[in-house]
Amino acid sequence: MNLILLGAPGAGKGTQAEVICRELNIPTISTGNMLRAAVKAGTEYGLKAKAAMDAGDLVSDDIVIGILKDRIKEPDAQNGFILDGFPRTVPQAEALDAMGVKIDKVIEIHVPDEKIQQRLSGRRVCLDCGATYHVDFKPSKTEGVCDVCGKQLVIRKDDEPETVKSRLKTYHEQTAPLKGYYEAQGKLVTVEGQEEVADTSRLTLEALNA
Ligand code: AMP
Repeated sequence: MNLILLGAPGAGKGTQAEVICRELNIPTISTGNMLRAAVKAGTEYGLKAKAAMDAGDLVSDDIVIGILKDRIKEPDAQNGFILDGFPRTVPQAEALDAMGVKIDKVIEIHVPDEKIQQRLSGRRVCLDCGATYHVDFKPSKTEGVCDVCGKQLVIRKDDEPETVKSRLKTYHEQTAPLKGYYEAQGKLVTVEGQEEVADTSRLTLEALNA
């Protein structure tokens, strides 16, 4: 099964991707994580992507479409995958169609902007293994230390308040039109993000089986 998780930055797509991943045993493909790894490794496209990411803008379609195309050819993606953070523009969705990728379902995790701002300001991430936490909603066992690999947790540069505002603006302008794109194909299901992660996860699994 090939799935897309749609939603504003900070809506909890990554967490719901983990839930689906456990349920269906298919990998999550996060273009954001791949780009951050490229920035860290200092690759050519990492260097090109960094300025846009730090400013809360989108990285160019050419770059992300290129990395996605290579990633879905990997052996672990042959029985299906969950796309987290891709597509983010209509041209990216059209590129997926042009690659012949059949999308079975698009699950939108909907969370109002004010809630997103509150969530992102408390988010902490491990730059080493990619695990994410929240100071209030999902704290690490030891403050500032990753439960998974023991490295130091940090605030992502693009989670700073001004950047969050601009990421939300970008989402509404460039990514939200994808809802109409997939609704027209009869593939869109919307899940209302709940206060408790476990409640959202239950609704996601319901949406998956709907
Ligand atoms: P994320 O972790 O999904 O929020 O992604 C972090 C940042 O990476 C975004 O703010 C964008 O700058 C960039 N990015 C990730 N995925 C895409 C995409 N599909 N298209 C363009 N830029 C992306």
